[in-house]
Amino acid sequence: MTAPSPSTTSNSPSVPDNAYIGRFAPSPSGPLHFGSLVSALASYLDAKANHGKWLVRMEDIDPPREMEGAADTILHQLEQHGLHWDNEVLYQSHRHEAYLSTLKDLERENLCYPCQCSRQLLKNKGGKHNYTCQPKNPNIPAALRLSITRHSLITFNDIFQGPQQQDLKRDVGDMVLYRKDGLFAYQLAVVVDDAFQKITHVIRGSDLLDSSPRQIYLQKALSLPTPEYGHIPVAINASGQKLSKQNLATAIDNKIASANLAAAIRWLNLPIPEELAAASCREQLLWAEKNWQRTSVPHTMEKPV
Ligand code: GLU
Repeated sequence: MTAPSPSTTSNSPSVPDNAYIGRFAPSPSGPLHFGSLVSALASYLDAKANHGKWLVRMEDIDPPREMEGAADTILHQLEQHGLHWDNEVLYQSHRHEAYLSTLKDLERENLCYPCQCSRQLLKNKGGKHNYTCQPKNPNIPAALRLSITRHSLITFNDIFQGPQQQDLKRDVGDMVLYRKDGLFAYQLAVVVDDAFQKITHVIRGSDLLDSSPRQIYLQKALSLPTPEYGHIPVAINASGQKLSKQNLATAIDNKIASANLAAAIRWLNLPIPEELAAASCREQLLWAEKNWQRTSVPHTMEKPV
């Protein structure tokens, strides 16, 4: 992804404050760590400061990567940190019919095609599927790929990271919507559900910045609205790695919830007064909502803990 000059960038239509619907969409691959707490907090504060709703969606569509009990643990951690969501939690594992019907719509319009290319073949072709292929063997599983046929240069103005652009055909190729292993792809599910939940603002970590053009393209192909996107820096450890389950980021401890929250608020560059650092999560959140400023969030892709 590159940052274009501002003149080539289109903003998504602005929405009135009272129509704001934001969301936090964790994958239950493990409990929340500091990095996922700041993503939850930033999306919560931006929603609340704009008098909006804040929804939680559990992205549980990839069982091999999930940890048993993690979905409940995450919800409990959010509650213990005062991050109470609006409406009911939406579980992607209950949404298979919606994803299937979207795939059928795309197939009907010839906008996706089956692909049996192996990883090795894809690697030999430069890692991007921007060539045509024909499924040959009816006995081996096929993925479904979106055919990038229309204008593929996607531009948008990220709330925190500024103007962005990506040429999808050139830089990404025809993306997978349904995986060979029979699972729905994240890009499909996220677009279908952001539209279903009428999400107007997507505030999340910058590790997903380069997924946004894919999502915007798919929204356009499906005639769905495009939310505004804002990507906050990802929290990195002392070795420069993103905090994640893979590099053993520790789960946040509910017993010191207000200390965790104060640290997350400070990490977002909101100077919470010392006397509030030991106050309840509720008091801290009320202060942070009042003092939330998009401009003070670090406009970098990464920030050390
Ligand atoms: N489920 C994704 C994750 O936990 C986030 C998806 C999103 O916010 O769009 O990384």
